[in-house]
Amino acid sequence: MTDWTPPPPGDTREQLPDAILTLIETAPYTSTACETAGLLAEAAAVHTDQADELGAWADRMHQRCRINHKYTGRLCGCSCH
Ligand SMILES: [Zn+2]
Ligand SMILES: [Zn+2]
Repeated sequence: MTDWTPPPPGDTREQLPDAILTLIETAPYTSTACETAGLLAEAAAVHTDQADELGAWADRMHQRCRINHKYTGRLCGCSCH
């Protein structure tokens, strides 16, 4: 386990085979990174005194998005892409 590294963005090694993907219905997808960025943006609107810091974290989370869903390959629907 020590030599395990996170898969790079766009990696499809854990994605289901196309023949299986055609049989399932995938819901619109927003990555956890972009979802969290959205929460940070909401918090920035409430905690205006910390808006700069929260905004910086939100940007960072958007940049960490891996865009394609690990298992279904569905693309993140966040407006930042
Ligand atoms: Zn995003
Ligand atoms: Zn995203």
